[in-house]
This record gives sequence, C-alpha cells and structure tokens, in this order.
Amino acid sequence: MKSPPRISLARLPTPLEPLTRLSEAYGTRIWIKRDDLTDSVASGNKIRKLEYSIGQALAEKADVLVTWGGIQSNHCRATAALAARLGLKSHLVLRGSEPSERDGNLLIDSLVGAEITFAPPERYQKMDNTYNELQAEYASQGLKTYRIPVGASDEVGLWGYINCANELKQDFESANIAPDAIVSATGSGGTLAGLIIGNALHDLNSRVIAFNVCDDEVYFKRKISKDFSLWRDRYGSNLDIDQLPIDVIDGYVGPGYGRATPKVFETIREVARLEGIVLDPVYTGKAFNAMLQETRSGQFEGMSDIVFIHTGGMLGLFPQKQALFGSG
Ligand SMILES: *Cc1c(COP(=O)(O)O)cnc(C)c1O
Repeated sequence: MKSPPRISLARLPTPLEPLTRLSEAYGTRIWIKRDDLTDSVASGNKIRKLEYSIGQALAEKADVLVTWGGIQSNHCRATAALAARLGLKSHLVLRGSEPSERDGNLLIDSLVGAEITFAPPERYQKMDNTYNELQAEYASQGLKTYRIPVGASDEVGLWGYINCANELKQDFESANIAPDAIVSATGSGGTLAGLIIGNALHDLNSRVIAFNVCDDEVYFKRKISKDFSLWRDRYGSNLDIDQLPIDVIDGYVGPGYGRATPKVFETIREVARLEGIVLDPVYTGKAFNAMLQETRSGQFEGMSDIVFIHTGGMLGLFPQKQALFGSG
C-alpha cells in the first residue's frame, strides 16, 4: 500500500483514561481517549486529519490553505492555527453572516490571522465556484491554493484516524483491556471512516459506533462508503472495504446541527462535575449523552469496556454559555 505524505503536528500519543466515577454511576467501564489534548489552539480531532491534508498540501507546494465550515467550525480554527504555525496563509469560508461578536473558534480564527469570507447559504452551497474564484485571486498574486474539504474528511484526512487506531492498539495493551466498543460523534465522517478502517487494519476487534450530530444514517453510510473506495483506489489497499460495518446510530441530532437539547447540557454539566472533563454542545456532548442513554436503555448490554473518543470542541461551548446554566 502507498503511504501518504504526513507532517507531524499533533502532540501524540494522547492519553487513554478511565472515567471511574461515571463508570460506577452507569455500571459499565467507560474510558476516554483524550483527543481534546492533541494541541492547545489546534486541539481536537481535526489536527490528526490535517497532518495528512497539510502533508499533501506541502507536497504540492501550496501557499494558502482554503477550507470552509460553520462560523464555529473547529476544523477551520485548527486549519487556521496550523497555517500560522507553519508560515502558510489560510482562507476560511464560513457559512452565514458576520456575527456582532467574535467568540469561541471565530475569535481564534481572527487572532491567528486567517482571511475570512462570510458566505450566505446560497454562496456557501456553490463551494466549487467560490473555491475557483479564490484560487484565481491567489494565483494572480503568484500564490498556490490547496483545497481542504469540510472537516478534512476525505480519503487523505481519514488517515489521521487510521493512525489513531494504531495508537489505541498500544493504549489497549497498556491498559490490558479489549474494549467492546469505540464510540465517537460523526459530523463530516472522516473520524469514523478512519476508525473503521484502522480497527480492521490494526485488528482492534472492537465495534466502532458513531452518533451523528447532523444529517442521518443513510447520508453517512453513503459518504463513508464513497470515501472508502476513494481511499482504496488512491493508496492501493487490498482491504475488503465492502465488508466493513458502518455503524451509525441515528436519533440524537435533536433540534439540528449545532443546537442541543437541555439533556445534552445536563450531560455536559454532569461529566464536568464528576470527572473534570469538558464536552461541547455540538459534537462530544451530544454523542456522550447519546452513549449514556443507550447504555441506560440496555442497548450496550454485555459490553464491559467502552472507549469514548473525546474529539475536542471546547471553544464551541463559549458562544452557547446562556444555555449551559438553564436559561436557554
Ligand atoms: C469535527 C468534529 C467532530 C466530528 O468529526 P468528523 O470527522 O467531522 O465526523 C467531532 N467532534 C468535534 C469536536 C469536531 O470538531
């Protein structure tokens, strides 16, 4: 198999820790993989994927990283922070109009010097056109752009979580556990895609389960199968990708992407008080709450060890502070 260009950016390996008080409360051993500790400003899961996306960009001698997402995109913030760290430029296209206050991720985007274009939904949807315009604009200044897709979730970025699965193998050996399930949130699909392939390549023998925070199960199955084939064709793997289960549990999106129910905020408070760990309302809080609900209702019956991947996102909590203590 061909190996992709990679640049080491994240502080790895991240710790795997038991959540002892929470485990006692729920009667299942719950572990947490601290991918919220992959960095400070570029923390979370995106940096693992960006090691490969930016590795590819550098191999192609790019000067400007162009990517897009929501106003509070963790992926855009991580890309902007890493561009600054590497002396590259970044240009972010953010969905929506410019908010009156620069909070959370957007504050960091601005601080690290990202160029930002706020795009109304109609323009945001025509990303090919928008990208082509930006590419031409930079080319006229003699600069080469590299396009990183939403969440760095494509056949390149998913290597980040194949690599994480390899790390988990060592973690499980050190902790002397054989977890029944590895659980994460899924938003653009790359983390889940990488974990599924990595689980197979590195013989973790766990069930990889994700809770979607937007769209639905059908959408993710389609998106991830497509990325599997692109990955196989590009890197020449003989893994039987059609046999890999894509396990997405739908039903916890709530009011919509980026919007959480009071139950999710309650879980965020519970985990913070019991374990000193901060989850976010967009991804990890939603998925963790879903995992606890599934555990409580017996869906994970018979599982003795469950590993939750803490994919980061803390900065996304600040713009939602009103809802955190009950007034929202
Ligand atoms: C992007 C993100 C996810 C989802 O990962 P995908 O690879 O996009 O599915 C989960 N948690 C956080 C904090 C994220 O920023």
